[in-house]
Amino acid sequence: MRDATPQTVYLKDYTPPDYLIDQVELVFELDEQRTLVRAGLDVRRNPDSRSASEALTLFGEELLLVGISLDGQALAAGDYTLSDETLTIHRVPGDRPFRIDIENIIDPQANTALEGLYLSSSMLCTQCEAQGFRKITWFLDRPDVMSRFTTKLIADKTQYPVLLSNGNKIGAGNLDGGRHWVAWQDPFAKPCYLFALVAGQLECVADEFTTVSGRRIALEIFVEAHNVDKCGHAMQSLKNAMRWDEETYGLEYDLDLYMIVAVDHFNMGAMENKGLNVFNTKFVLARPDTATDSDYEHIEGVIGHEYFHNWSGNRVTCRDWFQLSLKEGFTVFRDQQFSGDRSSPAVKRIEDVNMLRTRQFAEDAGPLAHPIRPEAYIEINNFYTLTVYEKGAEVVRMLHTLLGAAGFRQGCDMYFKRHDGQAVTCEDFVKAMEDANGVELTQFRRWYSQAGTPVLEVEQAFDAGRLTLTVKQSCPPTPNQPEKLPLHVPIKLGFLAADGSPARFQYRGEFCEEATVSLTEAEQRFVFESLTEKPIVSLLRGFSAPVTLKIDRDPEELAFLLSYDSDTFNRWEAGQQLVSRIIFGLIADIQAGRTLTANPVLIEAFRAILADAGADLSYRALLLSLPDEGYLGGQMAVVDVEAIHQAREFVRLSLATALSAEFQRVYAEHHQDESGCFDASAVGRRRLKNACLSYLTALEKPDSYALAETQFRSARNMTDQIAALSAVVNSRNPAKADCLDSFYRQWQREALVVDKWFTLQATCHMPETFATVQSLMQHPAFDMKTPNRVRSLVGAFSQSNPLHFHARNGDGYRFLADRVIELNTLNPQIAARMVGGFAQWRRYDTDRQALMTRELRRIVETEHLSKDVYEIASKSLA
Ligand SMILES: [Zn+2]
Repeated sequence: MRDATPQTVYLKDYTPPDYLIDQVELVFELDEQRTLVRAGLDVRRNPDSRSASEALTLFGEELLLVGISLDGQALAAGDYTLSDETLTIHRVPGDRPFRIDIENIIDPQANTALEGLYLSSSMLCTQCEAQGFRKITWFLDRPDVMSRFTTKLIADKTQYPVLLSNGNKIGAGNLDGGRHWVAWQDPFAKPCYLFALVAGQLECVADEFTTVSGRRIALEIFVEAHNVDKCGHAMQSLKNAMRWDEETYGLEYDLDLYMIVAVDHFNMGAMENKGLNVFNTKFVLARPDTATDSDYEHIEGVIGHEYFHNWSGNRVTCRDWFQLSLKEGFTVFRDQQFSGDRSSPAVKRIEDVNMLRTRQFAEDAGPLAHPIRPEAYIEINNFYTLTVYEKGAEVVRMLHTLLGAAGFRQGCDMYFKRHDGQAVTCEDFVKAMEDANGVELTQFRRWYSQAGTPVLEVEQAFDAGRLTLTVKQSCPPTPNQPEKLPLHVPIKLGFLAADGSPARFQYRGEFCEEATVSLTEAEQRFVFESLTEKPIVSLLRGFSAPVTLKIDRDPEELAFLLSYDSDTFNRWEAGQQLVSRIIFGLIADIQAGRTLTANPVLIEAFRAILADAGADLSYRALLLSLPDEGYLGGQMAVVDVEAIHQAREFVRLSLATALSAEFQRVYAEHHQDESGCFDASAVGRRRLKNACLSYLTALEKPDSYALAETQFRSARNMTDQIAALSAVVNSRNPAKADCLDSFYRQWQREALVVDKWFTLQATCHMPETFATVQSLMQHPAFDMKTPNRVRSLVGAFSQSNPLHFHARNGDGYRFLADRVIELNTLNPQIAARMVGGFAQWRRYDTDRQALMTRELRRIVETEHLSKDVYEIASKSLA
């Protein structure tokens, strides 16, 4: 906590470390309130250092120093200087390696920020990325200092029977006083952000995996005893990920042991510590009756993500935190590929783009916009953003599109071979892609340094078998970047003939049905020849670049693409564009006080989707989905939350009314009494059926109430149970209070299910929601110290309930600011995440702007404001 204006760190100020630490020996005497840490550091001067200083400065926060020595000689008070964030030893040897020994005390129980060593329920665990290691001991806490770690853990044997750290177990034994010790050694040099330890009463679920070269790897998942029956899916996902990375990237696991620990209190999703992943329970635990299909998918994706980091992140790591997208963008791309291969690539791509456009595009258009490689930060924790992760993955995906799968793989092979064991930069990644493919990507590099979502405006002209597309690119200004340069944008496209079949064409002398063209100029023309008739263009197939596409189309053309486009992404996209157009028409009617009427083109298009017998049921369910209110708001000059909600609900009700027989038929066809088995056909069935149920609920009729209540009471899997409960809660169903109560009583001992119960009520669109949210704050199960719980209530309400969060009277804003101020002292990282709810204030009307900025100022003026919260709140106001 600080009161002075926090310092900004700049990428341009990067210098190599003055010292390197080759070996680290750690000894922990673990205790909830008083853990003793002894660190022995083998230090030497870095030959690449540019400084002449004889001093060694280590980072450390909230540590109590017991003693310090240099080459075995205790240092006196005058030999070093301590500040809130550093320990500086005035003179160390410059011409030979030397040893520093430090002894310090930390208090895990008081650590509610959940960085460094902390207590989660009765378990001790760590989180060191990005800068948590400095809360364990004084160290060169920066990713370009890589060391070999040996860790000895000493603790009470009854309270902490399981003692884990990175690498391989090299020894264990008993001590007097009921204590025991376990020692671990990690043979791979790593930055300290990948250090981890865990101590607690944990059960181990064990399995094994044989690698492509025949090595047997022990796989162990550690959980509390009551969760042992919820690890099967995580274990299977891990084995699938290990096999997939061998087959797709030729990458094999390197240690003999891979451990995952699930903890209740965790700021992020999961952490890829070498050989010892620490996971939020949310991304490990699943049983059909407690977890939904989408939970199962997320678990597989996150298990894959952390596993893939073993190469893209651990073996090759980041030089500095500005390069975060080097490991995150790349690894998100890898986990997206993995999840697509495991389920339906079409559905996975749509889900990823939907999230990107709803949330990342908003970030890119607001006061917190930054390039995927930021140039400055106050608190690095604030840069674990959708831009760095999701847009970062899109940039890697564009390289994959431009180079082709084989070329991309060659680039990856060169990157891993060239940089194994190093801490490198985004530039090194692009360079490997260039060198392996003999191409030049100078202009493409601008994606790393330019913020904002580019806009492509397309005009078409057809004459004598020749289609000319004129594409203009522009990008709105973002903070500190008023002018933008043209980017290298891959545009994948195809054309449709009048009967809906693919139209063949000639591009640059070659005949094809699909092509990827490179847009590099601010305005550029592309000519396609040998067409027999004027085709319907299908542009930006597969969402080949993270841009906003503007092209003039009438509803009939969109309906045509929705019926016939062979590109699964663009087919879905045509439906989204069609619905959006209709909703924006209705919003204009609402604002002008006109009567609303249903659109027959949309009803017929949905009738056709419901009649279609296509095999991918999940995909069909997505075709029936309406654009998110947040996504619609993002396209309005001034967001009108009430009109958006009203118009969208009107569309939902008109579809439900006109097609109620169809929705009922498809519901009945796919409704089965099932245990919740996680396979593609069962998942698709449930998804399509529950989409139909949601439409039928809009009718507010006794038989639709009965349908939802019956499904709720008879469901044997969480997907069906929670979908039915959502239908009940988001309607005037008379059974609402009883269903909510019975759900809570059934699941009160399952924390992750209770989170769902909070979220469902926090995101409800019915009028009483704000009062419900306030009373839930007083519920015995609510706890501000548990991030999952805070996200399930405060986060869900402020980020996924635009209608009530943006209530005209400002109650939602005041509520959020109060929670941020409360969280600021408990957990700055989570508090800063919550401030995000205010970041888009400029997009609203002047009354709401005034209300939101008043709350932001109240936050900025709070005493002892953390730098996490200060950075987000002050940048939002700037
Ligand atoms: Zn990651």
